[in-house]
Amino acid sequence: SAAQARFEAANPKSQKQHEVAVKSLPGGNTRSLLHTSPFPLSMKCGKGPYVFDEDGHKYLDFVGELTAGIYGHSHPVIREAIVSTFDHVGLNLGSTIVQEERHAALIRQRFNLESIRFTNSGTEATMHALAAARRFTSHRKVVVFNGGYHGAVFSFGSGVAPNNVDLDDWVLGKYNDITSARNAIEGTRGLAAVLVEGMQGAGGCIPATQEFMLAVQESAKKVGAVFILDEVMTSRLAPGGLQSILGLKPDMTTFGKYLGGGFAFGAFGGRADIMSVYDPRNKDALAHSGTFNNNTMTMHAGYAGLSKVLTPEVNVEFNAMGDVFLEKLKRITKGTKCCFTGRGAVLAVHFTHQGAQDIRCVEEVDEDWDLKDLFWFEMLEEGYWITRRGSIALILETPQEELDRFVDCVGAFLEKHRSIV
Ligand code: PLP
Repeated sequence: SAAQARFEAANPKSQKQHEVAVKSLPGGNTRSLLHTSPFPLSMKCGKGPYVFDEDGHKYLDFVGELTAGIYGHSHPVIREAIVSTFDHVGLNLGSTIVQEERHAALIRQRFNLESIRFTNSGTEATMHALAAARRFTSHRKVVVFNGGYHGAVFSFGSGVAPNNVDLDDWVLGKYNDITSARNAIEGTRGLAAVLVEGMQGAGGCIPATQEFMLAVQESAKKVGAVFILDEVMTSRLAPGGLQSILGLKPDMTTFGKYLGGGFAFGAFGGRADIMSVYDPRNKDALAHSGTFNNNTMTMHAGYAGLSKVLTPEVNVEFNAMGDVFLEKLKRITKGTKCCFTGRGAVLAVHFTHQGAQDIRCVEEVDEDWDLKDLFWFEMLEEGYWITRRGSIALILETPQEELDRFVDCVGAFLEKHRSIV
């Protein structure tokens, strides 16, 4: 397309970088999601809420590191935590550290958990939460939902990801479909857990209805399966996470992303009786290791961010800003093939062949990738860095005028292409 041709002409350094990168990395990258055709943009640096590519273009960072980048690229509180940790604490002490207990206690209190453990990623958090559920129940099967994403090997976009290690252990239900969920949960023998997001993130920022989540929780409890809520992306949607908005009381919750202050992070926690399967004072405890689980940088930066920056008041204000933004986008796209979904400051754009509607699950979205690509190229030209699949995660310092300008850009896009959208 013309938009793609302009993209190629404007980004010779990124193109060159890609040609070099494919020599060392399959496809030139080390996070499949970040691959874009004809080549990915290579970012050189970030400052505050902006990123700058190798060819010198400046973008508002709407990728927000897939919700992990809530503090932006140069927050003074995070900087201070990192520098003082490096100067006065050191990198890794190979021991338990006070900061680990502090961060654990703060997250425990915010999200109403009895017990918690840290990992290096959300994927690991999923792995360990599942292992705990399996040990606790002595069962193996897990109910998940199409479109669900709980880490690369725990991806259920259109069925079980082929790199999944337990291909036979999954039972898939349809998201936002109470009957399907009940059948999957109550009709499976030997069920260890139900694993679900309160809003499917990678699936396209598709919020669950409260009735659906309450029904899933009720069915899980009825059959004695561990109800695991994946809040890796959604914990930032309210001071107590999405579970506090939806009125859920999961047995276990998984976390990740921004809670490490911008560093690699994951955590899982919940009921003390379930978490005790990891208590090393017990003879038959499950092993939970990980060289960097309590690394000093993550523990200090994560704690500083959550205690000093993302206070409950700031969280509420921030997500309210996101809700207003989303409302404006919904209004301006009404009656077109374009549709914005999401909650608070986490959202996604969709273009559907059938015309936009209230999107409730990926199975019902007939995504028009040509339009989505066109939108992506043209928003880059307007200075907005969005994931190619269309997700947007706001960061704290996002200027209001940039949000207003984006709404105008979307309006202009729809006007310009009105014969096809
Ligand atoms: N769960 C959800 C809902 C996620 O969105 C992600 C990552 O995007 C993960 C789990 C995996 O986290 P990580 O990428 O840190 O392994």
